[in-house]
Amino acid sequence: MSRFFSKRYEMLTPYTPGEQPQNQEYIKLNTNESPFPPSEKAMAFGREELRTLNLYSDPECKRLIAELAKTYGVSEDMITVNNGSDETLNFSFMAFCDDEHPAAFADITYGFYPVFAQLNGIPYTEIPLKEDFSIDPEDYIGIGKTIFIANPNSPTGVYLPLEQIERIAASNPDNVVIVDEAYVDFGGESAVSLLDRCSNILVIRTFSKSRSMAGGRLGFGIGSKELIADLNTIRFSTNPYNVNSLTESFGLGILKDPQYMKDCCETIIANREFTLEELRKRGFAATDSKANFVFAKSDRLDGEKLYLALKEKGILVRHFTKEKIRDYNRISIGTRAQMESLLKAIDEILEGQK
Ligand SMILES: *Cc1c(COP(=O)(O)O)cnc(C)c1O
Repeated sequence: MSRFFSKRYEMLTPYTPGEQPQNQEYIKLNTNESPFPPSEKAMAFGREELRTLNLYSDPECKRLIAELAKTYGVSEDMITVNNGSDETLNFSFMAFCDDEHPAAFADITYGFYPVFAQLNGIPYTEIPLKEDFSIDPEDYIGIGKTIFIANPNSPTGVYLPLEQIERIAASNPDNVVIVDEAYVDFGGESAVSLLDRCSNILVIRTFSKSRSMAGGRLGFGIGSKELIADLNTIRFSTNPYNVNSLTESFGLGILKDPQYMKDCCETIIANREFTLEELRKRGFAATDSKANFVFAKSDRLDGEKLYLALKEKGILVRHFTKEKIRDYNRISIGTRAQMESLLKAIDEILEGQK
């Protein structure tokens, strides 16, 4: 730290992203990316845009927002777009949290929430999940805080039914309830259907997981036009060009090819169920994940040991050191061949244990 670093940020512990080795030596099952590249149709769209790279991007992202509005059946003023949903999340902490509206989220959830709270000097409460890693909705009823719920949750994959989201939102009318739906395309129902009744819900979505565009950095928020206007005030006060023209047009191309995304999601769901079944056969305990990953612990091997042994064999998974989940690993779902390699590696590792 230099002697010039602002006192405001002295105590900040940055988020630790999953490893991104810059070679092809690993089977990467650690950051929940799609194993499938964007479709040819989507890529053709993006390439068109290269010719106008000398011009600034459209700060209002009109074409993209119009297509998103059509996709989700809402009006255009109910959508904002950002440089990955991480940015939408940060802007939500900035816009909807302060000393009178402290933040609340689960103790086991997306690791960026406490970082954003700290970055913005916002007080926050971490609410323990139940023993089975589900959320107890009662813990959130009428708490009078700005609530962040990843649904399905990460790293657990557990999904909270929409009725409970609605109850939580209705009981906290003076606060925003942010529903982070990074994984909802893999088996959950979207809270977008609640927006008519609950004007205090903000849904946050990303192109990084189900839409094969993690490297393109594209996220968006869906909510009442008032909430979206607030987020746009923050966006236009930081970086109006946060979504560059290439990302906008690739994103547009992906939206124009919805069947491809649907097919990819179906394949991943089938591979997830296959992997869950095979892991359970091998004595693993796993949550009923509704996401593109499984969250599992072996009855024979320590979580960290398994993570390291897999890495040695060229397979990256995500291990977290937090006490409550240190026995587990989060394993992204890849192609069937990748999952078969994972299972083979696990068999070899367990065999070596005997
Ligand atoms: C991956 C992830 C995000 C971040 O997505 P980006 O759009 O790539 O920034 C947000 N929330 C959760 C819960 C995630 O797992």
